[in-house]
Amino acid sequence: MPESGGIRSADAANIGIGEEIRALIARLYPICRSITGPGVRQTLEILSEIHPIRVSEVPTGTRVFDWTVPREWSIRDAYIKDSSGRRIVDFQAHNLHILNYSVPVEGRFTLAELKPHLHSLPDLPKAIPYRTSYYNDNWGFCLAHEQLQLLADEVYEVKIDSTLSNGSLSLGEIVLEGEVEDEILISTHTCHPSLANDNLSGMAVAIHLAKRMHERKRHHTYRFLFIPGTIGSITWLALNEANVHRIKHGLVITGVGDTGPLTYKRSRRGDAAIDRIAGHVLSAADEPHKIIDFYPYGYDERQFCSPGFNLPVGRISRTPHGEYPEYHSSADNPDFVSIPSLLRALDLIEAILLTADRDKMLVSRNPKCEPQLGKHGLYRKVAGQTGQQTDELALLWVLNLADGQHSLVEMAERAKLPFERIVTAADALLAHGLLSDGRTRR
Ligand code: ZN
Repeated sequence: MPESGGIRSADAANIGIGEEIRALIARLYPICRSITGPGVRQTLEILSEIHPIRVSEVPTGTRVFDWTVPREWSIRDAYIKDSSGRRIVDFQAHNLHILNYSVPVEGRFTLAELKPHLHSLPDLPKAIPYRTSYYNDNWGFCLAHEQLQLLADEVYEVKIDSTLSNGSLSLGEIVLEGEVEDEILISTHTCHPSLANDNLSGMAVAIHLAKRMHERKRHHTYRFLFIPGTIGSITWLALNEANVHRIKHGLVITGVGDTGPLTYKRSRRGDAAIDRIAGHVLSAADEPHKIIDFYPYGYDERQFCSPGFNLPVGRISRTPHGEYPEYHSSADNPDFVSIPSLLRALDLIEAILLTADRDKMLVSRNPKCEPQLGKHGLYRKVAGQTGQQTDELALLWVLNLADGQHSLVEMAERAKLPFERIVTAADALLAHGLLSDGRTRR
């Protein structure tokens, strides 16, 4: 496949994948998802057409650290009818119209009684907001602010045909075994209903990444999580606590379809290998990007980076949540996400993963003075000759920094040489027995 520096070029086949990702988003968009319920399962089934996802169901009532898996929510219909019997707010027309996790309601309400249950966005008066009430029994509707302002003072008929009952929470997982049990984790949230950038873009890019990594030779084991936000990562961590020490690098993927620059949010550690790797790949790609420090707000990095876990997990997005006006509204629709943004995110995240997969610490077998490279067939045969087959400068940097303290990415940065040149030099030195690889295989 055409690649340069580990990043795919924008050839026709790759652009076709961008179109596939955008089409997948458009197909998943109408489904009413939530933190539990049939919408998430249907979504996982559709994503499984790209690469199979194993789904586990965690029963309502399961204690997960300080939380409890909630009742499962299903909704069939919801509306507000005016006095002429016309549905003026209709869940069938847009699933953002319902306050997500609304309890069932049936009755007649005056405008004054109804108003505390109506939500709108005065700053974006044509858009329907996205609102939830997961852990507090409530009901409500969301509508365009301009519609709310025109509601007549009359009696309205309200119906929410929903159920909240014992069921389960669906966790989707893909495990791609590598040479070692050490893992690279990719996590994305599945709980938002009709919202394209947040986070159908994350789900669609993650499933295509899984497909690509499945086709690759892998050193690490890759684990992809497709889980509801917050309660999903808390539940997964509670059930998998014994094995999280295997996670060596991790990324939360969300909101990668808008036209803002890629934004990497560092892990809580701030100096984890993934923090260095992500920064290195984005800089080396000459990609407009931002690197921001960890803060305890955002997506599931909050749980992976809680102090009791403190995992090396960063987050990759474009414009951060809340910093674009379309955020959490009906304006975040499939037209809002761009094919080049999605494709570039896929390619660069793949490059980050491949770099993480090959990054390692090496130890020189001849740390006292340089080895005599000519004797090992690794040095120019005639002093002063140019155009040598081996990259002497890269060889010398790798030998000098192969002290078990510098990763290959750190060497590339220190040497100001491309990662690929460092890897090629390291491979040559390994093949000639001049370095040892501390990594263990299964
Ligand atoms: Zn969100």
